[in-house]
Amino acid sequence: MIGQPRASARGSRWPAERAWRLVGARKRAASEQDKAAGGRACRVVDHGNGRTSLASVRLRPTANGQVVASLRWTDGRRSYTRGLGVVTANTRAGNLAQAWSRARDKGLPKVSDDSWATSRAARHVMRANQGRDTKPELLLRSRLYQRGLRYRVSARPLPTLRRTADIVFPRAKVAVFVDGCFWHGCPEHHRPSRSNATFWRDKIEGNRARDRETNTVLRSEGWAVVRVWEHVEAAEAVDLVLAALAERGVAPRESP
Ligand SMILES: [Zn+2]
Repeated sequence: MIGQPRASARGSRWPAERAWRLVGARKRAASEQDKAAGGRACRVVDHGNGRTSLASVRLRPTANGQVVASLRWTDGRRSYTRGLGVVTANTRAGNLAQAWSRARDKGLPKVSDDSWATSRAARHVMRANQGRDTKPELLLRSRLYQRGLRYRVSARPLPTLRRTADIVFPRAKVAVFVDGCFWHGCPEHHRPSRSNATFWRDKIEGNRARDRETNTVLRSEGWAVVRVWEHVEAAEAVDLVLAALAERGVAPRESP
């Protein structure tokens, strides 16, 4: 904000400072962005190969009394800026939230095509960030359905345990988790991030510890737990699920 006017003096057409200027420590800059974006995970730009960075909204006052927002992120030495237009809230926090919501509508932050990693590993990582209803999971579900199997989707195996399995066979007591290569730290495809390394290491390690705990609790309650990495081919994933179901006496229809 160097070179911008300092105050909206009486009669000036500049917007009020509270609508755009950041005051306070740098630390606040990160947390206010997290808050406006709806959590730090929403700010992550995935450059493929496990390289990530965080996008931030910048607010700039204009001489005609408006505040203009843009989204900015970097990939190594390159930086990217995408305009988000005029924001209209009275406070900086309100404008950040408005800008982030607009960014989401535009599908930003998005890595430009030329820097899209095309390797198999990078695609796995990107896919991993989509969360629910990822393609490998959908494929697995439809193959199981074709075999006459019926299940619940994104359900809690144990009502008292706040853990959701991707595919649940309540009567056979089989819980299937399709683990994203990035979020669950697949040994083949997870590459540690260079930016915010500690944050990501803690995050992924936390997920893995949680996965182990989920396995333990479910098994102690008589459930069979099947975990497949999202990079596993659908046919192989189907076989793993069928094997677990077979042990519980559930047989599928012949494959079409
Ligand atoms: Zn993987």
